Amino acid sequence: MKGSFPIEKFASERTPFYYYDINLLRTTLAELGNALTSTYETANIKQVHFALKANFNPELLNIIAHYGLGADCATGGEIRFALNAGIPPSAIVFTGVGKREEDIRLAVSLGIGRFNVESVAELEVINEIATSMKKRASFSFRVNPDMGAYSYANVTTGMTENKFGIHHSMLADAVTAAKKMRSVRLCGLHFHIGTQILDTSDYIPLCNRINQCLELLKTMQVTIKDINVGGGLGIEYEHPNHRPVADFTSYFQVFKKHLRTDLPIHFELGRSIVAPCGALISKVLYVKEGLHHNFAIIDGSMTELIRPALYSAYHRIENITSDEPEQEYDVVGPISEHSDVFGKSVMLNRCHRGDYIAIRSAGAYGESMASHFNCRPLPKAFFSDDNLNS
Ligand SMILES: *Cc1c(COP(=O)(O)O)cnc(C)c1O
Repeated sequence: MKGSFPIEKFASERTPFYYYDINLLRTTLAELGNALTSTYETANIKQVHFALKANFNPELLNIIAHYGLGADCATGGEIRFALNAGIPPSAIVFTGVGKREEDIRLAVSLGIGRFNVESVAELEVINEIATSMKKRASFSFRVNPDMGAYSYANVTTGMTENKFGIHHSMLADAVTAAKKMRSVRLCGLHFHIGTQILDTSDYIPLCNRINQCLELLKTMQVTIKDINVGGGLGIEYEHPNHRPVADFTSYFQVFKKHLRTDLPIHFELGRSIVAPCGALISKVLYVKEGLHHNFAIIDGSMTELIRPALYSAYHRIENITSDEPEQEYDVVGPISEHSDVFGKSVMLNRCHRGDYIAIRSAGAYGESMASHFNCRPLPKAFFSDDNLNS
């Protein structure tokens, strides 16, 4: 980012803050659209829903909505953010194992596109609420595909014995239960297997499971309208400049090749759309020489970007102020937690108090997971497009 981040312009702003490269976001959305239309040339309707939990910054959502994406929401709050960005209710899906009653009411009254239902118990409540409101709610069953031996490190939500979805072996019973409920309509199947998936062949076992589930529905003489295959496409955290846009084409093609259905397909992407365009900008507070390590103590912390502390996630770190020879640093935040570390033994241009540090690829699960821990203020966001900095 050295050179491309206009330090002077933000010199009087309190660090840390998020900085979003709006050109990159637009390029990403354009390539996403191209990859989708070039993979599925048919008139088949298909839709990408942006997973708001990755980032619900209103300026970014406005742009995402402008490119025609729908929304995958986990709460009533996210549904409201999606609506405010101009995403129509029909393009909103509502996912989550623990939907609250007031959020279900909001979604039913809006007539959102789809509930992704994760248990029969939940479906009963949606049915009750819809009945009382004299409405009919469209839903998909979220199926836990349990890919067992086919699961890899990042394929975490699609395995046995976790809280997500209905185990595929229990789908028939769930469908039978749903048939008895008058105010809900089964319209599709939904899946989501994990996140930061870089090898798109990891999706092949999912496709096979989906094909199996479709066979099951056929034998039960149940027809549905579409399939939602979830999200999880990964990005290159190590080399953000090499491949700034995720490989959407391979992602779409694996489904095109391995799914045996003519039904419309829906996708739910979060990270791959917004992660590359965001950086957390911090300043060096102190350079501390330790016994074996040099520490670059920065003013950004796990309060603004929790992924390294929570998941040991890697982010590329750059000193965007200094051109001096590189040295090795442990880059740490000021919080009194062992895990408040952004990177160990990181090579950075020699650091001085006041240098700007960019923590790259922080646009997903960064700002949206920021907290007030230690009474720290929530980080502000700035944009490469001046029209958005108000
Ligand atoms: C988090 C989530 C997504 C988005 O995942 P990414 O890894 O950010 O693409 C999609 N669908 C569901 C149900 C999710 O929980």
